[in-house]
Amino acid sequence: MQVSYNKLKTFGECPLKYRLTYVERLPRPPIAWLGFQRRVHLALARYHDIAKRDGTVRIDELLSAYEKVWELDKYPDLRDGTEYQDGEEILRMYCDNEQRKRRVPAYLEKKVRCNFGPYVLTGKVDRIDFGEDDKYSVVDYKLDRKLPPANPAAVDRQLSFYQLLVREGLGLTVDDVRLYYLRHGVEKAAPRTREHLHETVAWVDDTAAAIQKERRWAPCEGDACKTCPFFKQCPAKTGHARESREVWAQAVLPW
Ligand code: SF4
Repeated sequence: MQVSYNKLKTFGECPLKYRLTYVERLPRPPIAWLGFQRRVHLALARYHDIAKRDGTVRIDELLSAYEKVWELDKYPDLRDGTEYQDGEEILRMYCDNEQRKRRVPAYLEKKVRCNFGPYVLTGKVDRIDFGEDDKYSVVDYKLDRKLPPANPAAVDRQLSFYQLLVREGLGLTVDDVRLYYLRHGVEKAAPRTREHLHETVAWVDDTAAAIQKERRWAPCEGDACKTCPFFKQCPAKTGHARESREVWAQAVLPW
């Protein structure tokens, strides 16, 4: 069975949401901010391609790559939209910051997988930088509008998951994990302790085993409902059992 951080998190929030997303794979309406996020990530990866040529980034070149990501030749009106302009501002700030820091990424938007007991862990890491003494730094981009008050990197389980993935999947020693708040040009770093990693291993183990054993796929209302696209299929929202009995009485799952 393949498990990603998102799969494990979704199951922990609501087993029915997991079932509808990853097992039945019900169609879901496109989420606007995901499109924005993907475009910004693609442009940032392009930034480093351009910089690799001679160590200099020309902002006009980067913005022209950004225009291509938005397909402005086909949809020129998008240039006037808030999202396009937000993204442009983010790129300009990123460019300024990175020129000063002069860090060198080893991998961008890197898909990683590794064996983990009976499971396969998978994930895509936004950026892995070369560090000192043959060590590496894992960076996860965030597009939050507000900076969190405390340092969320200190308790972010996704960062621990990525650190394990990079260590086991790419054989790299990671000594630093960080959340990069792109709208603010701020990075929050937090080294992982042995306890953090042990806790994450136990969480992966327990949650993956629970997914394999699950038979009821009961809805579990909570924060996950705020972004759930399955209100019309969810008995907790409609007040009616789902028509198909399969969902409640599944035998073998197509992992
Ligand atoms: S609406 Fe809420 S309870 Fe229903 S499937 Fe989605 S997350 Fe679960």
